[in-house]
Parts: sequence; C-alpha cells; structure tokens
Amino acid sequence: MRDERTLYIVVPCYNEEAVLPETSKRLREKLQDLTAQGKISARSRVLFVNDGSKDRTWEIIAGLHAEDPVFSGVDLSRNRGHQNALLAGLMTAVNFADMIISMDADLQDDVNAVDAMVDAYHEGFEVVYGVRSSRTTDTFFKRFTAESFYKLMKALGVDIVFNHADYRLMSRCAVEGLAEFGEVNLFLRGIVPQIGYKWTTVEYARGERFAGESKYPLKKMLAFALDGITSFSVKPMRMILNVGAIVFVVSLIMLLWALIAKLTGHADSGWTSLMGSIWLIGGIQLLSLGVVGEYIGKIYAETKHRPRYLIREVLNTQDGEKE
Ligand code: UDP
Ligand code: MG
Repeated sequence: MRDERTLYIVVPCYNEEAVLPETSKRLREKLQDLTAQGKISARSRVLFVNDGSKDRTWEIIAGLHAEDPVFSGVDLSRNRGHQNALLAGLMTAVNFADMIISMDADLQDDVNAVDAMVDAYHEGFEVVYGVRSSRTTDTFFKRFTAESFYKLMKALGVDIVFNHADYRLMSRCAVEGLAEFGEVNLFLRGIVPQIGYKWTTVEYARGERFAGESKYPLKKMLAFALDGITSFSVKPMRMILNVGAIVFVVSLIMLLWALIAKLTGHADSGWTSLMGSIWLIGGIQLLSLGVVGEYIGKIYAETKHRPRYLIREVLNTQDGEKE
C-alpha cells in the first residue's frame, strides 16, 4: 500500500540536553521538507537513542515524542557507548524504515546532506557514506590524529572510507545485512564496507559542536582506534612474527660472534651491548605479549556472546499502532 519510502534518522545521545531542542527542531524541519517534496513518506521519524545519559536527555526525548509523533525514542538500560547505541537505534528502526540515516546529536553532521543521501537512495544506492569535505573547524590535533588514523587503517589493510565517520544512509536491506554481523567489538565503520551492495559517498562540511562538550575525550578516541585496528586487522600479530624472526637471526649471529670472541681470547667484550640487547629483547617481548593479549581479549569478549545493548523502553507511534 505504501509506495513512498520511509526514512528514520537515528541519533545516539549521551548527555545531550544542551543540543536536543535545536537538533530536534532542525530534523523535524528537514523531514517536513522532504515529505513535502514527496521524497519520503509521512511515516518517517527521528529516532533518538538515549545511551544511559545522566542528565535530562531522556525526559526531553519523551517530551518531544508526546508533543509530536515525528519523534521516536529508544532508552537503553545503561551507557553502552556510541557504537552500541547506534546499533540499538538501527535495529529498532529497521522494523519500520526503508532507509535509515545515522547522525550525531550535536549538529556537526550537516543536516542538509540528508537530501543528497535520500536522492542517492532513490537512485538505487544501498549505502551512502557522508564524507567530510573539510576539517577546518577541527583543532589541528584532532585533524592530525584522525587523518593519521585513517591512513594507518589503510596501511593495515582495513577497508574503511576516508574521512567518513558514522554519518551515513543505509537501506533496510543493508541494515539487515549488518544485523548478521554478530560481533561484540563494534566498529561500524569497518563493518559496513564489508556488507557490500551498491554504495556511494556524499560530501558535507563538518561543523562545530552546537553546544555542550565532546563525549569523546582522547582516552575514548584511542580505545576506539585500537578497537578498530584489532577488530579488523591481524597485521600487528604478523608484524610480531616478523620481528621475532629477525631477532632470532640476529641472536644466532650474536652467538656465533660470542663463540668466536671466546675462542680467539677476546671474551671480555661488551657489557654495554649485553645490557642493551637484554633490554631490547625484553621490550620486544613485552610489546608482543601485549599485542597478542589484545587479540585474546577480543576473542574472550566475543565468546561470551553478551548482548550489545538492552532496551528499557521504545517510544514510537505509527498509524495508531504503538510499540
Ligand atoms: N555518544 C553516545 N554514547 C557515548 C558517547 C557519545 O551515544 O558514550 C553520542 C553523542 O551523544 C553524539 C555522538 O555519540 O551524538 C558523537 O559524540 P561527540 O559529538 O561527543 O563526539 P565527537 O564529535 O567529539 O567525536
Ligand atoms: Mg561531535
């Protein structure tokens, strides 16, 4: 019966009371605009996911929903982090939507890029990546670390889209594909390209956070980067193997050298080099153990098959039916 396509915009929110009033206003306007143009159905919604916020975020979301059914909400049982919150939103939205856009709450992702994403969907693309055209509003440090990270990921053989964060459109089909990936160590930017299907990119200028402060301090950013690498690349482990092989060869040569020195009566040589090599090898061993441990930790987390999120409540109204 419905030939018009339904769009859900999924917005993970962690302590975002400062930005929600403005974000909801802009997103509602965007949906109204697209509906008027006949690009999306009137059943389209903005779905806010409350990721265990400590402030009034959920009260605001519930208030918005009561006031206008265009706003839906998912309340998680506790803070599970951006990636899990996003997944919870996608998995909820896929029951109602034909296409789903994920976006940050702080309006850093330019809302106007939604038009181009929806157009691309109508042209038959299943995944549309929002790609930053510039990073002029980022600090030098953030830009440098982020771009180095993308380059490192590429060098390690991980297939990710350059300068794409989690601002993207996915068709229902693509999200159903994503649902098949059961991993606990979620790094959506790495998983989505593995789904495949027809994809394209849309450029947008990344703005500054509208209000409030970043929920991604350096520590979380580093943990996220490490997760991304170790979830998708086994190259670090291979590098250890290579380093191990080289060190082994070097130690054989050293042994030979020591023997020759002994036989020719020059045994009293090199306390410095001895100390040096002990420290070097000790360091390499610890480092290697650490990398191996990182992967074992991942396996440990995956084998437990713990749920990635638990939903406390869903607020979503569709034609009288209530979830
Ligand atoms: N976020 C979340 N759970 C968290 C941390 C962040 O849902 O534990 C959301 C946050 O509300 C925002 C998005 O993830 O919508 C991106 O966070 P933020 O803008 O703080 O990151 P930055 O843009 O500084 O990298
Ligand atoms: Mg932000």
